[in-house]
Amino acid sequence: MLTAGCHLSSSKGYLAMGKDAVKINANIFQFFTRNPRGGNAKAIKPADVEAFLAFAAGHGIERILAHAPYTLNACSADPKLRDFAERTMADDLLRMEYTPGNCYNFHPGCHVGQGAEAGIGFIAGMLNRILKPEQSTTVLLETMAGKGSEIGGRFEELRAILDQVELSSHMGVCLDTCHVWDGGYDIVEHLDQVVEEFDRIIGLSRLRAIHLNDSQNPLGAHKDRHAKIGEGFIGKDALIRVINHPALCHLPFYLETPNELEGYGRELALLRENYHPGL
Ligand code: FE
Ligand code: FE
Ligand code: ZN
Repeated sequence: MLTAGCHLSSSKGYLAMGKDAVKINANIFQFFTRNPRGGNAKAIKPADVEAFLAFAAGHGIERILAHAPYTLNACSADPKLRDFAERTMADDLLRMEYTPGNCYNFHPGCHVGQGAEAGIGFIAGMLNRILKPEQSTTVLLETMAGKGSEIGGRFEELRAILDQVELSSHMGVCLDTCHVWDGGYDIVEHLDQVVEEFDRIIGLSRLRAIHLNDSQNPLGAHKDRHAKIGEGFIGKDALIRVINHPALCHLPFYLETPNELEGYGRELALLRENYHPGL
């Protein structure tokens, strides 16, 4: 069965997200750990988490993916901003242990003029301080569109981060189809080659999640504007090839398309209709 879901609002807590997921026939979902612009997180309510875990077990929700606020910049030139990113992510990782064994995804950040190498060093340094041997959460680096000075637009940059992290077994990668397309990886005409390149540089065993999005911009645009499935430059057929690809079909697919719950439900139904791996 296809493991698929979408990004859900976390404002009403875990159980409410589980119920939203079930409404649209999702067996996974993604959520922001706190306001996506950063700042304080609401206190976790243990009763809510407990109710969610029971609900998830009873409704086939297999896993969840937490997403860090996208404004955090672990490789900023400003030490105050780096410190804020580190404290926020360290706190998020503590909170993740309420729902053990899941993944936490973050954007590597923008090096803003210092150069990618310096930025990569800051990101790895932070991870080496906040990762704990005993944690059950896997931290994912997201592939990025390479907008401005964004790190992660090339697979080599994610490899360089992984190489500098000591507790590397707690690390993985989340591939965003809109971002890699915008970054110049042609998943429409050359999906096999892109998958091979990912495997050669990062290793497919690191790939733990896919963000399934169409793109409002052409190949290599370095923009990062998501589109609904079939309404962008990647197109429905290419995204259906992604979910059916033999090296990818077992992965969890998360929609981050511009949709309300109903629209997500329609896209998930479309994906499920067209899921025929191994055909
Ligand atoms: Fe993201
Ligand atoms: Fe994404
Ligand atoms: Zn994006």
